[in-house]
Amino acid sequence: MSVFADDVVTFTSMLKIVYNFLTGNSYLKRKKFREKKKLIAVALPFSDLAFACGAIPVLPIRMEIFEINKYLSALGSATNIFGWNNITKFLGFLKNLEFQSINKTVENIIGEVIETINKKHNQMYDLGVESGIPTDFCYGIKSLYGMYVAKGKNVEANLNFTIRCSAWNKYLESLKTIKNPAKDIWIDVPPRNIGNSLEILTNNFSKAINELENITGITCTDNRLREHFTLRNQICQHYKTIIHEIGASDFFPSNPATFAEILALLTISFHDYNSNVKRYVENMSSLVNEMKERIRKGIGMECSKMPRILITPIFGGWEPKSHEIIYELGGRSLYADWELLGFLENINVSNNSNPIEEYARFIMNISSNKMGCDNDTLTDSYLNLAKKLNVDGLIFFQLFGCHSISNCYKLLRDKLRREEIPSTALTFNKIGENVEQVKTRLGAFMEMFK
Ligand code: SF4
Repeated sequence: MSVFADDVVTFTSMLKIVYNFLTGNSYLKRKKFREKKKLIAVALPFSDLAFACGAIPVLPIRMEIFEINKYLSALGSATNIFGWNNITKFLGFLKNLEFQSINKTVENIIGEVIETINKKHNQMYDLGVESGIPTDFCYGIKSLYGMYVAKGKNVEANLNFTIRCSAWNKYLESLKTIKNPAKDIWIDVPPRNIGNSLEILTNNFSKAINELENITGITCTDNRLREHFTLRNQICQHYKTIIHEIGASDFFPSNPATFAEILALLTISFHDYNSNVKRYVENMSSLVNEMKERIRKGIGMECSKMPRILITPIFGGWEPKSHEIIYELGGRSLYADWELLGFLENINVSNNSNPIEEYARFIMNISSNKMGCDNDTLTDSYLNLAKKLNVDGLIFFQLFGCHSISNCYKLLRDKLRREEIPSTALTFNKIGENVEQVKTRLGAFMEMFK
């Protein structure tokens, strides 16, 4: 088998994850119209209750039609014939067609996918602004607003979790002003775990579950909740292995820029597990195995001399060229927002527990101990992860319009300094807008490690 074919065969799961992300539109149409499933819009990784109630959660951008590169669409057609497990036959199939882009490596394909997704985010941002979202909101909110303007009418309801950011909560309120708004299901998350906060949140979840049950017609039993939480716990376990075990190793299963792209793709697809939790668990499990196998076979890159840089936060928007620039400057980048904010923690699924209360406990931990209402707690989350990952430096994205997370950088910088971890802040407004400036800043920052 050629080097190229070996590269693809040993990384099939990543291709499946990107294929499932990009083909959300047709998958969701089939679920909605043929199988009569109910779609529920989610943003941030708050999809679990919708899954447990038998709905199909979706991060609205996945209802868009994406340009799919020729290779991936050929892969899609071939897998309809051969199935994903017969990837070798599929390569033969492509060869018979004398398909030119067969010579693409996984690294090329993933790079192109990232560009496609970023282009779509920018389009959604523009649509959000044209549709009247105030210009002083952050990139993430503007592009989410655009997603709802474009596709919000296709869902039965929006699952709205309030968080520490007042702009976010204001934006959620504004969704009802969009034409043909879907029903809103609200979950108020108490900012601090004091007094009867846990009880309040448990009650709020029970109410939301009732509303979801009314939409799907499916009763959400304790067992359904436990079954779903067991699956999402498995996803999180695999995700942690990729961040902590593979990300910490000195031999990466791809070049470090592609490894960072994989982490970025996981950050995006983790919002709704590509609308199919079982498929996502299987893909994550294969991804971990494939990464380990590639490392064992020596496919990838030795990177012990490359400084390890944590780039965060990225979930509200960031310049995705950063990891490529850092790679060219001799470093390797890690993205781990969901780990940092506590979304990868385990949910207790033991039989004698109350699963709704356990989910409330899990969300309360995120709200009060990870994101925190105060910058001291939040900056501790950044610092703790930086130490745990043993990073050599940290790059912090300050988003235009963000007054909640971005303004904690000064405090974070002081804490990092005390631990002798260099850091720098980059301002961000829109993808691609400031690449030259990012290059200059990162160039100066990476000089420190020479
Ligand atoms: S990036 Fe800042 S303003 Fe935007 S949602 Fe997150 S915390 Fe709020």
